[in-house]
Amino acid sequence: MFEQLPTFQKLLRQLQQLPYLASKNIYKVAFYFLNSDRKKVEQFCQVLLDVKDRIGRCHHCFNLTEGESLCSICRDEKRNKKIICVVENWYDLFAIEKAGGYDGVYHVLGGVLSPLEGIGENDLNLYSLFKRISNLDIEELILATNATPEGEATASFIYSKLEHLRDRFKITRLASGVPIGSSLEYMDKVTIYKAISGRQPF
Ligand SMILES: [Zn+2]
Repeated sequence: MFEQLPTFQKLLRQLQQLPYLASKNIYKVAFYFLNSDRKKVEQFCQVLLDVKDRIGRCHHCFNLTEGESLCSICRDEKRNKKIICVVENWYDLFAIEKAGGYDGVYHVLGGVLSPLEGIGENDLNLYSLFKRISNLDIEELILATNATPEGEATASFIYSKLEHLRDRFKITRLASGVPIGSSLEYMDKVTIYKAISGRQPF
């Protein structure tokens, strides 16, 4: 059907590669761009390029940062640097920040261990976490990976690597309130707040 519209077909192929965009919506998004002003489309493309050029990862915790080597949380003197909350991705960090009630710092793993998808320990920011912990005097490490099989396996892996340091600091896991098989990013503020304030030893 689109053979006579090769450029449009190219756009559809690009949109097909986007995760989280339901396949039935690809045509609607393609028509949205087709019907938008040229200026609007240029602005959109420029913002995408700017995001790629200007947004980096914090050297300490791998949170997002713009124009600084450390993120705003690591630079904040009011944050308790002795409590580190380990999360899978930036949007989990964002969900906890949005819920409020947590004043420690973070470590963003960049995913979870997933042998089926070929994601191993060297593909995540795990060894930087172990190095960070060995250089710091910390009180608590919160394993806030999601309550999915991969999230649990990743938390267990971290725990197994740090278990011998348990007399130096507490290792905790998010408490009840987090339904099994769910992701932090989809939870309401109260659930996340209860989970983080009622965290339990691993
Ligand atoms: Zn940081």
